[in-house]
Formats: sequence, C-alpha cells, structure tokens
Amino acid sequence: QTTTPYHIIDEQTIRTIYQPRKPFSHKGTFGHALLIAGSFGKMGAAVLAAKACLRAGVGLLTLHVPRCGYEIIQSTVPAAMCVAEVEEQYSIHFHEGLNPAYKCIGVGPGIGTETATARSLERLLEAVKAPMVLDADALNIIGTYPALLQKVPKNSLLTPHPKEFERLFGATSDDFERLSLLGKKAVELQLYILLKGRYTAIACPDGAVYFNTTGNPGMATGGSGDVLTGILTSLLAQGYSPKAAIVFGVWLHGSAGDQAAARLSEEALLPEDIIDSLGQVFIRLS
Ligand code: AMP
Ligand code: MG
Repeated sequence: QTTTPYHIIDEQTIRTIYQPRKPFSHKGTFGHALLIAGSFGKMGAAVLAAKACLRAGVGLLTLHVPRCGYEIIQSTVPAAMCVAEVEEQYSIHFHEGLNPAYKCIGVGPGIGTETATARSLERLLEAVKAPMVLDADALNIIGTYPALLQKVPKNSLLTPHPKEFERLFGATSDDFERLSLLGKKAVELQLYILLKGRYTAIACPDGAVYFNTTGNPGMATGGSGDVLTGILTSLLAQGYSPKAAIVFGVWLHGSAGDQAAARLSEEALLPEDIIDSLGQVFIRLS
C-alpha cells in the first residue's frame, strides 16, 4: 500500500494539538510576541493582527509600528505594548533594539513595500534566528528581492494568498502544478508555506501537506488574513511547534469564521467577527 503526503485536518487531530491552560500558569507561560504591522492608511491591519494575537492566547504582545500608529494601537488595543518609529518609515536599525524576550515575531500586514521597509525587513531576517511568521507585504517585498528568501529563518511560517504566492514563486498553469510547486518549495527552503483559499493547503519541510476544510466565503474580506497572522504568531509565541501552530492556527481561523457566519451571515461577516468568535471555538475544544 502506498501512502500519500496529503492529510485532511479534522477536529480529532486538533484535539491532540490543543494545550489547555494549567491552573498555575502566568503571563510568562504564554510567551511574548512581537508584531510588526501597519503603515499610514493601513493601521487596521496592525489592529486586527494584534487583537487576534491576544484572543488566541498570547501572554504579552508588543506592536512595532510607524509613528502614525502609536495612538491608534494604544487606544484600540490596550492590552498591547507599543514601540513606534520616530518617523513614518520602518528603520533599518530597528533590529538592534530587538528585545531578546520576544518568543515569536510576526511581520507583514500593512507594512507597505517601500525601499526603506524592504531594507529593514532584510536586516530583521538577518538578525532573527527563531521561526517567524511572514505575511502580506513582507512576502511582496521578498517577491521583489528573491535573495531574501534564503535569509528567512528555517521553519518559519509563510502565509501567501494566491497572488502573493505567484509573486514569490512565479506563475503556474493550473492548481495541480501550483500545489506541487508549493510542496517542493517548502521542502527545498525548509519552511512551512500555506496557500490560502477555500481549502487552504499547508506544505511542511518534511514533505507533508495538510488541507484545511473550515472557513467560508464570508471570510473573503480584506483583513481576514491579518487575523490569521495574529493567530499564528500567538501560537508560536505560546510554544506550539511550527507544525502544530500552522495546522491548529489555520483550523482555528476557519472555525471562528464559521461560528461568526452562523451568527451574522457570510455577507455581514467582518474580520473582527472572526476574532470575536475565537473564544467560542476554544470553549468547544476545552
Ligand atoms: P487574505 O487574502 O490574506 O486576506 O486572507 C483571506 C483569508 O480568508 C484566508 O485565510 C482564506 O483562507 C480565508 N478565505 C477567504 N475566502 C474564503 C473562502 N471562500 N472559503 C474559506 N476561507 C476563505
Ligand atoms: Mg493578506
């Protein structure tokens, strides 16, 4: 009998991954995450990722944002700490002040693709050794400077939607070709790479590919992906392994979207409703 590397994520599997909180735990138990997100006109991406990161259970969260984001983060996400740039651009010296306490760094939602931001990202990738979460404009920057791909820490999580995937790895002629390219890149680069869609595919460095079936078209609204970035960064910071974090995180994101759609309809569903429904999904698991 031959075995395929393809798996479908079911709730049974998720129940073996999920770690309930122990009574004597404290905020230090659940890790300190750093999210680098937002720019002028795109601070909503940072707010969504931050709220999702907290709702997914992180112990401490710091946001790193450009100057314009300081008041926005402090007033909309009071549980998070905020480090703001002196200017509207991301600084290439930023990595020098990185707090060694950060257990996981998530970068990309709404950061833009300016040259200064691209250079900051490069320095960051060179400085960080632990697995990170890279999404959105971080992926678009890497698509423009493909040499950066080699600098991404091993076992990091990359979360492109189909357009971002194409910018990263080039065009493919059909879904089958794209899926095999996804699997090949994950093994070659030793990264976890997912491809978003109705059935998000998660390719692992060991060659395994997982398909997620939760989620619905109500999540086809700008900002839904930023919520996923927050969730994944949160789970990695809490000590879930990269494979556990990406499989659990994608399932959790879709399940929360399904809970929210049942309450509000697919049409009315907004990214913040996915965040608000995370609690119901954790209650179901516990
Ligand atoms: P982004 O394009 O980065 O905002 O990410 C969109 C998120 O919503 C991804 O996690 C998708 O998997 C999810 N999503 C969008 N449309 C659907 C759909 N029709 N069915 C299931 N999930 C979806
Ligand atoms: Mg996105």
